Amino acid sequence: MRTVQSPPASEPATQLPSAAEPTERGLLQRIKSRFVRMVPPPVVRAMAGRYIAGERREEAVSLVNRMHAARGLYSTVDVLGEDIRDPAEAAEFLAEYTAILDDLAGCAHANISVKLSALGQVLDEDLCARNLESLLRHAAALGQFVRFDMEDHTTTDSTLDFYRRFVGRYPRIGPVLQSRLHRTERDVRELAPLKPNVRLCIGIYREPAEIALLDKPSMKRRLLELLEMMWDNGQYVAVATHDEAVIRRVFAMADRMGKTPADYEIQMLLGVPRSAIQKEAQERGLKIRLYVPYGRHWYAYCLRRLEGNPEMARMALGNLLRWRRR
Ligand code: FAD
Repeated sequence: MRTVQSPPASEPATQLPSAAEPTERGLLQRIKSRFVRMVPPPVVRAMAGRYIAGERREEAVSLVNRMHAARGLYSTVDVLGEDIRDPAEAAEFLAEYTAILDDLAGCAHANISVKLSALGQVLDEDLCARNLESLLRHAAALGQFVRFDMEDHTTTDSTLDFYRRFVGRYPRIGPVLQSRLHRTERDVRELAPLKPNVRLCIGIYREPAEIALLDKPSMKRRLLELLEMMWDNGQYVAVATHDEAVIRRVFAMADRMGKTPADYEIQMLLGVPRSAIQKEAQERGLKIRLYVPYGRHWYAYCLRRLEGNPEMARMALGNLLRWRRR
């Protein structure tokens, strides 16, 4: 069973925090997580609705186009759902991704993000390979880029192997690397000859202490070190974070290393309010790309977003108590 880690309760906006107490924080997160998971689904949907485009494909396509027209924002679209247990479900995801690629045909401001587990990775790797190849062939015919989302550490080898296996035939693909995992530095070195287009993030999955950093300040320092390694190697990097202090460090490093908008972009989740720093990045000529999830399987995703947002988690608890008193 996968567990996800939430951000700390508070975060200085302009300065990287020093290393914190991971044990105490972990306990608070587990308590908060338990409360959030007791909130009834309709309340979760009402509170976390801004994190998803909707349940239908048309809603996602319309939102992506409106955000680009109104604010010059780019998108990466995700069909909600992961870790399926039945080949028929994998076929449904493949059909949905194929359809959204068609709907986004000719659209330079949106690509797709895929969780390989939704295509059958955990169920049967051969099935996943067939589904993935079908999707990549379709995306390539439309000139579209496909990002492979990264799930927990049990899938890292397999996901990077799929990337290596397909990148020769389908160059417009890219993996995600998570700075919290100790292995990531080695992955960066091993992937270096391929010069992958990487999305770099701290990672959302709570991982065992033996294989991962446990406190966010260390994960963020490592993220910046990994970014420097990839930039030294001449790679394009999509830095995925909402932390303004980290983004400012990225800008400073870019200036120092002579990196331009041709070398990187900033990615954030739909619904996390960051318009000022987004505007600042756009003034530097950078792309801001939002992760735009949609689909019927919204519940687990919305729960994660509530857990990830301290303010929303407090509201969830208030709503839960009111709901129980009825
Ligand atoms: P944090 O310290 O966690 O957050 C900084 C501040 O941002 C918080 O204090 C809070 O104010 C705000 N914030 C953060 N998250 C939320 C939220 N959900 N709601 C409201 N406010 C919030 N992880 C993976 O493991 N695999 C992936 O493939 C992956 N893809 C991602 C793609 C994108 C575009 C983004 C933005 C994130 C992705 N992540 C992925 C998750 C990511 O690694 C982090 O868990 C998440 O972005 C929070 O980390 P942070 O760097 O923003 O720092």
